[in-house]
Amino acid sequence: AKDRGRNGVARYEPRLQEDQAHQLNLLTAMRSSLKQGEGFSLHYQPKVDLATGRVLGAEALMRWSHPAHGPVSPAQFIPLAERSGLIVELGRWALREACRQAQAWRSAGWSDFTIAVNVSMVQCRRDDLAHDVLTSLADSGLPGQALVLELTESVLADSADALHAALRRLRALGVTLSIDDFGTGYSNLGYLSRLEVQQLKIDQSFVRRFLSSPPDRAIVETIIAMARKLGLNTVAEGVEEPAWAETLQALGCHTGQGYFWSKPLPAEAFWSRFNPLPALPAS
Ligand code: C2E
Ligand code: MG
Ligand code: MG
Ligand code: MG
Repeated sequence: AKDRGRNGVARYEPRLQEDQAHQLNLLTAMRSSLKQGEGFSLHYQPKVDLATGRVLGAEALMRWSHPAHGPVSPAQFIPLAERSGLIVELGRWALREACRQAQAWRSAGWSDFTIAVNVSMVQCRRDDLAHDVLTSLADSGLPGQALVLELTESVLADSADALHAALRRLRALGVTLSIDDFGTGYSNLGYLSRLEVQQLKIDQSFVRRFLSSPPDRAIVETIIAMARKLGLNTVAEGVEEPAWAETLQALGCHTGQGYFWSKPLPAEAFWSRFNPLPALPAS
């Protein structure tokens, strides 16, 4: 059924999520989109310094438009891509495209722009992740210091030596490791320092309720306090109201991201709305 989604965009939401044939159809369509280089794109959502209001960079979020049905939610196509292994090739594409775009914006004058890219656990478990990142950096010219990788909390529960070695290689490239949706998964907190994670993204389920729900407020305060003691940077995701941003800043959170500033935008729209370059004088 076609439904009006979150942003008033028509989204294709099948009623029978478990329908195998349907999943297979979606997967086949994704494979052919990827092969033809059509249908996939990245949208960019600003990350804002809560103290100054300055846009520091963006998170790249994958979008897919089914050739017949139109936009499909990432909540639907990402898990399918993960289960099928297609996320490896898709994630490689996203990494390359995000690095290329970020370096284009830096070259155009936004010289300290940083880009965050989501990396699935399936990609983390493969031993070519560090190589893929290295290739994306080398081909785009983007310095490793300008790249943030958003990893799922499950990397903090995995003791595999290969995974730890891959993360160390990424750190050696200067890349920032961030834990996405922090507080919703399982972590071995000892790995936070051992794996040289530098950033925690407070999950939006806590942010959404922290002003009205004392337990959620306690969780947000505790994550920020722990991050500060460990010398980690904090990002609050899902910030929708000015009061949330103000309170998060007062609690010591560094960075905010959410609809209060902007929903994720196509590249051109992101650039024209947020680039910090002075406007050209009219001639
Ligand atoms: P995420 O990485 O935690 O991204 C944040 C999600 O919250 C995004 O949903 C974003 O559009 C949404 N969001 C941002 N601000 C607000 C807000 O103020 N309120 C609300 N209600 N939502 C907000 P999106 O774009 O649908 O992506 C969903 C998830 O799909 C992402 O969660 C991420 O886990 C995954 N994903 C997206 N792109 C990629 C990708 O390139 N690779 C991988 N592996 N996963 C991706
Ligand atoms: Mg993310
Ligand atoms: Mg997140
Ligand atoms: Mg999330």
